[in-house]
Amino acid sequence: MKVLISGAGIAGPALAYWLQRAGFEPTVVELAAAPRPGGQTVDIRGVAQEVVRRMGLMPAIRARRLPEKGLAYIRANGKQAAAMPAELLDGAGPVAEIEILRGDLSELLLAATSDVEYLYGDSVTGLTQTADGVRVSFATAADRDFDLVVGADGVHSRIRALAFGPEAEFVHHLGGYGAYFTIPAPEDLDGWMKIHNAPGGRWVGLRPDHDPRFARALLSFRSPEISYNRRDVEEQKALLARRFQDVGWHARKVLDGMRTAEDFYLDSTSSVVVPEWSRGRVVLLGDAGYCGSPLAGHGTALSLVSAYVLAGELAVDGDHRRAFPAYQEVMREYVVQRSALPPGGIAMALPMSALGIRGRDLMIRTMTSRPFRGVLAKVAAAEPDAIELPDYAALTAARHTAP
Ligand SMILES: Cc1cc2nc3c(=O)[nH]c(=O)nc-3n(C[C@H](O)[C@H](O)[C@H](O)COP(=O)(O)OP(=O)(O)OC[C@H]3O[C@@H](n4cnc5c(N)ncnc54)[C@H](O)[C@@H]3O)c2cc1C
Repeated sequence: MKVLISGAGIAGPALAYWLQRAGFEPTVVELAAAPRPGGQTVDIRGVAQEVVRRMGLMPAIRARRLPEKGLAYIRANGKQAAAMPAELLDGAGPVAEIEILRGDLSELLLAATSDVEYLYGDSVTGLTQTADGVRVSFATAADRDFDLVVGADGVHSRIRALAFGPEAEFVHHLGGYGAYFTIPAPEDLDGWMKIHNAPGGRWVGLRPDHDPRFARALLSFRSPEISYNRRDVEEQKALLARRFQDVGWHARKVLDGMRTAEDFYLDSTSSVVVPEWSRGRVVLLGDAGYCGSPLAGHGTALSLVSAYVLAGELAVDGDHRRAFPAYQEVMREYVVQRSALPPGGIAMALPMSALGIRGRDLMIRTMTSRPFRGVLAKVAAAEPDAIELPDYAALTAARHTAP
C-alpha cells in the first residue's frame, strides 16, 4: 500500500518509520532542498518516551541528550533577575527530563528511515481523489498515484490547503512570532537557558549547544499578524534586526550572528485546530492538523505519539475508512490537553512594559523561594498524559495491499 507523506519534519519521518515497519510503502516529499537541521531543544515527555522506546531510538536519543540546568531571566545589564532551576520542577516545567536538539531528533528519524524514498526540494501541487486512490501532482516530479496521502507539512500545510480549505479557517494567530538560529556563543551558558525580556513584548534567548563555542538563539516578539515573504529569509532577518536594534544584553551579538546563520527559522506563534482530521484518503498529522504553538510546548511529543497511533490504526486492517476516525478518537483528548496554553499565555512570556517584566520576575523569585517551592512543584507536577497508548501488535506483523 503506497502512502505519500508531505513534510520531513518530525511527524513525517516518524510515520514513515512505523508504516515501513508494518509493510506499507511510504514516500516522503519535502519542500526544503535538504533536511532542515534547525531548532532549539525540544522535549520528549510522558507517553512520547514510550513511543521512542518502541521505535528502538531511546539509546540514541539518550546519547544525544542536551540537558539544561534551568531557565534564568537576565536584565539588560547581564545581571540575573530570576531563575528556575530544573531540579525544582522535577522535569515538569520548561526544562524536561529528556531534551534533545530538534535537529538531532530529526537526524535520528531520518537515519531510521534511510531506505524510505525521500523527495527533497519538491511539493504537492494537486490532489485528485478517486474511488481507489489519490492522483498527486508535484511541482517538479511527474504525477503519481498513491493509496493514501498524509499532510505532515507543519502549521502552513499545503495538503491541508488543498484538501481541507484555506489556512485562515484553521490557523489562529496568538499574537507573536519566534525565530530560532545558531550563533557563536556570546558567553559561556554553563548549561543554562537564558532569556532577556525587553519592553514592547520582546525577548532574546540563548540555549546551550553541544559545542560550547555555539549557542542556540531565539528572538520572540509580540505582534498582530504581519505580512512577509515566508520564503525570503533575508527579508525576515531584516525585520528582526529592526525590531531588536535597541535591545540590551547580548542582542547586538545575536543579531550579528543571525546575519550568517544558515539554520534561521521564523514562524508566527499560532495554534491549529481542524475539526475532522481526514477527508477521504487524505489525513493530517502533527502541526498540520493540531498545534498549540511553541507556547504550549508539546509539538514534538504530539507528533511522535500521533505518528505511532496513525500507523498503528492503519496496520490493523489497512482500511483508512476505519483507521482515520479511530486515529482521531485515540488522540483527541491528549491533543486537547497538550495544546492548552500555559497560565498567562503569551502575556506571561512576553510582558509589554518594564513594570510587567519586573512583576513577572518578582513572581518567579517568590515562587522559587524556599517557603513556596513545595507549592510550585505541586502546581507544575506533570499531569499524566490523557491517552492510553494502544499496543498495535499488528504494527510489527501486518503486511497490507490496497483494499
Ligand atoms: C526548521 C524548523 C525548526 C523548528 N524549531 C522549533 C523549535 O526550536 N522549537 C519548537 O517548539 N518547535 C520548532 N519547530 C516546530 C516543531 O518541529 C513542530 O512544532 C513539531 O515538532 C511538530 O512537527 P511537524 O513534523 O508536525 O512539523 P514541522 O517540524 O514544522 O515539519 C514540517 C515539515 O514540512 C515541510 N513543509 C512545509 N511545507 C511543505 C510543502 N508544501 N511540501 C512539502 N513539505 C513541506 C517543512 O519544511 C518541514 O520540514 C521547528 C520546525 C522547523 C521546520
